[in-house]
Amino acid sequence: MTETHAYQRNIPMARGADIVVVGGGPAGIAAAIAAARTGADARVLLIERYGFLGGNLTAGLVGPCMTSYSLDGKEQLIRGVFEEFINRMVEAGGALHPSGVPANTAYNSFIDYGHDKVAPFDPECAKITALRMVREAGVDLLLHTLVVDALTQPGKEGRRRVTGLVCASKSGLHLQPAGLVIDCSADGDVAALAGNEIMLGRDQDGLMQPMTLFFRVQGIDDARVEEYVRAHPEELRPFGAIVAKAREEGRFPVPRKGVGMYRTLQSGVWRINTGRVLKRNGTDVNDLTAAEIEGREQTFALLDFFRNELPGFENCSLLDTAVQIGVRETRRVVGDYILTLGDLQNGRRFPDVIALCGYPVDIHDPNGAGGGTGEAPPTANVYEIPYRVLTPRDLDNVMVAGRAVSATHEALGAIRVMPPCFAMGEAAGVASALAQRAGQAPRDVDVAAVQAQLKVQGAYIGDPVAG
Ligand SMILES: Cc1cc2nc3c(=O)[nH]c(=O)nc-3n(C[C@H](O)[C@H](O)[C@H](O)COP(=O)(O)OP(=O)(O)OC[C@H]3O[C@@H](n4cnc5c(N)ncnc54)[C@H](O)[C@@H]3O)c2cc1C
Repeated sequence: MTETHAYQRNIPMARGADIVVVGGGPAGIAAAIAAARTGADARVLLIERYGFLGGNLTAGLVGPCMTSYSLDGKEQLIRGVFEEFINRMVEAGGALHPSGVPANTAYNSFIDYGHDKVAPFDPECAKITALRMVREAGVDLLLHTLVVDALTQPGKEGRRRVTGLVCASKSGLHLQPAGLVIDCSADGDVAALAGNEIMLGRDQDGLMQPMTLFFRVQGIDDARVEEYVRAHPEELRPFGAIVAKAREEGRFPVPRKGVGMYRTLQSGVWRINTGRVLKRNGTDVNDLTAAEIEGREQTFALLDFFRNELPGFENCSLLDTAVQIGVRETRRVVGDYILTLGDLQNGRRFPDVIALCGYPVDIHDPNGAGGGTGEAPPTANVYEIPYRVLTPRDLDNVMVAGRAVSATHEALGAIRVMPPCFAMGEAAGVASALAQRAGQAPRDVDVAAVQAQLKVQGAYIGDPVAG
């Protein structure tokens, strides 16, 4: 779209909120809960485009939650809201605690590296659990609402501050006045709309990771799949040889080297993470439309292939597809610090650490069939995420948490998975509440106080090094 059209209109103004969290995925759920728990007097509002919470966790049918442990699987690093959420689902029979899910099982697609201690869960249980936790924390919710613009005014030292968000819903447009905003849209929507500098794609060509439409298949013979995989330990991914032969013969419908398949809590039901849509931009509506069409066609072509060619899939059928195609990467919002691959490889210590992670770099080839943790550059057993990746460089009263944080393409390839997004969201929630109480910009809050409060709330950040 190149032509423009001027449009002016008076729109209703909603009651102001001290802290507005945009996006109710893993980062937004944790941010809203932590902000409400920290700032008892603050009004925390969570705005979400869909009619339920969870983001990729639910709408994307993405799962399991990748590891919350160190790379060697020995120490649980991501606790706090994430672990509480998992424990509540475990109690309800809707998840397995990661401590009981070792590497190389059906729950992690039989992958070893980086896949020790994942958390399989049921997406419906995730929806209701997230909703209950957010409401119990005292968060106000506005569902079915998309933030489409940000009003700004000059801030400090050439930066800008957001005063309100223009929202679109079935009620029309309205303005949401905001004291502080935590952008958990995964696409950095608020930060981009407010004019913060954005990074897009990898350095050499600007390409982003491919998209995948998740779907679930029922009627799989679990024992036969397990038997096949155990009989073929030489295959890097399940059914690698069958897929390779079909690819040679032009019969495999997607650019992928094997079948990404994750057993769920129900027997015979697996999540399929195998489709791949290349070279699309998840912040461009025309690209998204094309990707949805391609993703749905791939799903049915894959189903046919599975039924005809894969042992154990002969009688399978489609259970459901995700609400929308899964977008692995879009905007990365330039913050006060940009996390790099080197930081992850060296296990760099940061005085302002707000989360510890062990998940390795997982970049699906933006250009073809390769990638994933199997081809990843090695990372430290434990690496740290600093507070400054959450504070957008050009804005005063906005924080970003989740997939759009300030990181290189390579570093984001590791911290983009759901447990770190919960952890980053929790830190942003705590910090924004402390900033709101002190009348400060998030970048000016006492990080030691954020770290102390994170510990009080059950998060784990190790022993931060001195500054
Ligand atoms: C195909 C695929 C496979 C993956 N596999 C795994 C896996 O197996 N395990 C794992 O742990 N991670 C996996 N990931 C990564 C993980 O799912 C995401 O990176 C993670 O969910 C990001 O969390 P988030 O909270 O930042 O964003 P999301 O989960 O994307 O949530 C963002 C939320 O914001 C809402 N939103 C967006 N824009 C607006 C707006 N303007 N106004 C209002 N609401 C808005 C969305 O509706 C959504 O609910 C995968 C991702 C993809 C795409």
